[in-house]
Amino acid sequence: MDKPDYQLIIVGGGPAGLTAGLYAARGRIQTLLIEKGATGGQVLVTDWVDNYPAFAEGVAGFELMDKMTAHADRFGLEKKFAAVESMDLRGDLKRIRLDSGEELTCEAVIICTGARPRKIEAPGEKELQGKGVSYCATCDAPFYRDQEIAVVGGGNTAIQEALHLTKFAKKVTVIHRRDSLRATAILQEKAFAEPKIDFIWNAQISEIVGQDSVEAVRITYNDDSTATLPVTGVFILIGVVPNNDMLPLDQLQTDESGFLITDSEMVCAGLSGVYAAGDIRSKLFRQIINAAGEGATAELSAEHYLSNCPTA
Ligand code: NAP
Repeated sequence: MDKPDYQLIIVGGGPAGLTAGLYAARGRIQTLLIEKGATGGQVLVTDWVDNYPAFAEGVAGFELMDKMTAHADRFGLEKKFAAVESMDLRGDLKRIRLDSGEELTCEAVIICTGARPRKIEAPGEKELQGKGVSYCATCDAPFYRDQEIAVVGGGNTAIQEALHLTKFAKKVTVIHRRDSLRATAILQEKAFAEPKIDFIWNAQISEIVGQDSVEAVRITYNDDSTATLPVTGVFILIGVVPNNDMLPLDQLQTDESGFLITDSEMVCAGLSGVYAAGDIRSKLFRQIINAAGEGATAELSAEHYLSNCPTA
């Protein structure tokens, strides 16, 4: 086998990738972490994290990720800021091709490419993105001071961010497609007690209306009746889809939504030397602590594999 450039390449630098990177660097594995943006992933745009152990008072999302990055850096994790275009994960030598054309090789790969916001696919959504349509309350909330806005979704993200938006907006209307929320009880209690939050149940946005910016949303109820709600902002917070464009999906096993199926050691589809951790995995719960824990498990599994590797 040709000599690989690295023993381990980690693709993606969110909580899963950074934790895998910390373990690998500390374990003296010759490792490269490739990240296309800034390290931190989705948590970078999470306003406040209240459930990460050891932060008893809570912590801002960017601060938590700053600390995770610094922790991996302390052990000398090598990072490269570049976009991965494709991968070939078959065989003992794994190949990672960057969009610059550069190809890197390694013995083991941990895929931590995460997920991105799901869209409602309504007319006006694409045209008015950044002009009132947002997928990140933390990023855009301050633009809506004293305005009336809508939030779509009934999960933890929608309700947590609706609560955050009340710090700025005059009124926040949560539009949900069913008659009960999926969010945890504590968030529901807070939202129902918040006078600035209204709910529209059993309804979906069928169109986002506006010339240069959002002026209103058209709502279609489950019984097909319709209504128009004047708002200047729409926050679409309805879950995530996998970042799997750069993955060789013919070599991996995915669920019906395109998330990677792994075993309990984070091995992908039985492929030796290939692991996945964090939100890209097919799973029920997507939490920062889960992603970090999976990053650690994936790296320890990779270390075990590398110690028996053909080039070891
Ligand atoms: P989620 O739990 O999957 O909730 C998505 C919500 O959007 C659901 O209410 C769903 O409706 C609705 N929805 C989905 N597709 C839709 C569509 N096309 N049109 C309209 N509505 C649609 O996603 P999430 O809230 O982003 O949370 C993701 C994960 O992160 C979860 O595991 C969550 O627990 C976790 N999380 C945790 C915290 C925390 O612990 N503080 C904070 C944020 C997120 P239905 O209910 O009808 O399916």
